[in-house]
Amino acid sequence: MRNNRSLRNQGRWNTSGVDEMFGNVCGRRRLIHTAWIDTNPGRRFLSCPNSGCNHFTWIDLPMCDRAVQIIPGLLKKLNKMEAQLKRRTGRERKLWICLVLLWLVVGIWFVL
Ligand SMILES: [Zn+2]
Repeated sequence: MRNNRSLRNQGRWNTSGVDEMFGNVCGRRRLIHTAWIDTNPGRRFLSCPNSGCNHFTWIDLPMCDRAVQIIPGLLKKLNKMEAQLKRRTGRERKLWICLVLLWLVVGIWFVL
């Protein structure tokens, strides 16, 4: 789950593989993408890497209205919590450095 999510950028879709099963009209292998737009959150699709070819096919069935309504909110909440965790981890690291420096200063003060 985490790896899939780390692949997800904050944009509209990410690429997760190559369609090995079927070729394409123009002969190039289609790429498997995951859409991250509000109307199709997490829905996979195939597209051709050839910019002149407009081949596009959904892999997953459409989501129900309730899932489309709930998933974007959950993803935004998750992204917000991950950003908050990252900030707090950085703050914790700085506090540990301050604590170690304080121990050194106190240790040196007792020795001298
Ligand atoms: Zn193509």
